[in-house]
Amino acid sequence: MYLHPHLETMSRRDLEALQLERLQRTLALAAEAPFYRERLASAGIEPARIRSLADLRHIPLTSKDDLRRSYPKGMLAVAEEDVVRMHASSGTTGKPTVIFHTAHDLDAWTDLVARSLYAAGMRRRDVFQNMMTYGLFTGGLGLHYGAERVGMLVIPASSGNSKRQVQLIQDFGTTAVHITPSYALHLAQEVPQFGVADPRDLGLKFAVMGAEPYSIGTARKIEAAFGAKVFNCYGLSEMNGPAVAFECAERNGMHLWEDNYILEILDPETLEPLPPGAKGELVLTTINRTGMPILRYRTKDLTRILPEPCPCGRVHQRIERIMGRTDDMLIIGGVNVFPSQVEHVLMELPEVGSTYQIVLTKENCLDRMTVKVELRDPAFTGNLAQLHALQKRIEHELKSALLLTCRVKLVEPGDIPPSQGKAVRVVDERGGN
Ligand code: AMP
Ligand code: ZN
Repeated sequence: MYLHPHLETMSRRDLEALQLERLQRTLALAAEAPFYRERLASAGIEPARIRSLADLRHIPLTSKDDLRRSYPKGMLAVAEEDVVRMHASSGTTGKPTVIFHTAHDLDAWTDLVARSLYAAGMRRRDVFQNMMTYGLFTGGLGLHYGAERVGMLVIPASSGNSKRQVQLIQDFGTTAVHITPSYALHLAQEVPQFGVADPRDLGLKFAVMGAEPYSIGTARKIEAAFGAKVFNCYGLSEMNGPAVAFECAERNGMHLWEDNYILEILDPETLEPLPPGAKGELVLTTINRTGMPILRYRTKDLTRILPEPCPCGRVHQRIERIMGRTDDMLIIGGVNVFPSQVEHVLMELPEVGSTYQIVLTKENCLDRMTVKVELRDPAFTGNLAQLHALQKRIEHELKSALLLTCRVKLVEPGDIPPSQGKAVRVVDERGGN
């Protein structure tokens, strides 16, 4: 049941002792990097004087901007020849964020991925098809080596080309996939074109899903479509990539691997710690990385700790499904809206298909939100009155969830360009706000 029984089930006390030891080592190492040498010195912090986990809060926070400012090598803590790989974030904002790994770092990350997949139930006999993009993005190579470490046959299919994906699944008996939720929904729709009437006939058992936020409704939809269990996988390139936190077989929150990261939940406004169970910004410190340690990184991801122990027996605390980012929050006519809220409403509706898009415009200087909603084929009855009633019903549901009036535009499957990677959920045509 556990790939690393000792590391996964040690007592809280032993875990915290291990965290402190690793934190102290990490601080000494971080001080070798030009960025942190200066940052720690100007904050008056001597690494040797951090003597407890509670002292961590004296260390300044690190932001994505800090990474951008120290681009490309300002946070490197080891000699360049000790670095064996680099990755970069998907670069949705400005310059990419580059992360360097030593052989030790890749080995530790691979262990975390392997531990996660094993916790979900994957074993040597499984066949793992990785449908995430291979390249600088961490979803490809990151999961790849961990799946190999479990002993599975790994098919590095990369993303897109649904016909080939289906063929590989059929020819090699794939039982597990790693996929983005948007591509999973798209693939489910495409499968019948390739001679498989029902995606459940593909025989998938596990779908590891992450890289973008998705609701429990989306997860259920994908499970129903493929007849496979979905496992939520969280990560960000700054903290390696996927498998920072992962759902065990209980599938109720993701264990954040605390032997490799120290986790804090802060109020994103005041940056003060929040009590266990309160929702706030996840802040992470690497404690088992040598090439580029990162201290108290502001992920901008909103979540909360699930304070109850998990029945699986792992000591590592669980975080809840990511509830949005502090920076993808839309402010529409003064009302805060998370795209995940819109998705949540839509995915509860059986008529709604696999994708949607939020379009923000200005009308007479006022913000206007239109939600393009893709309907499932059977919902197109040809009866205009019925379609109109459905449109009004969705508008009403959205209004009661978001406390905001928006317009719904029903579109046919395919009208919203399909996504083979991260979906474009928001089109903001309002101009600088
Ligand atoms: P990147 O560093 O480009 O891989 O992007 C990392 C970001 O993707 C995270 O900070 C999250 O906002 C998002 N992300 C990754 N995995 C998940 C997940 N399972 N659920 C929600 N958001 C996720
Ligand atoms: Zn568990």
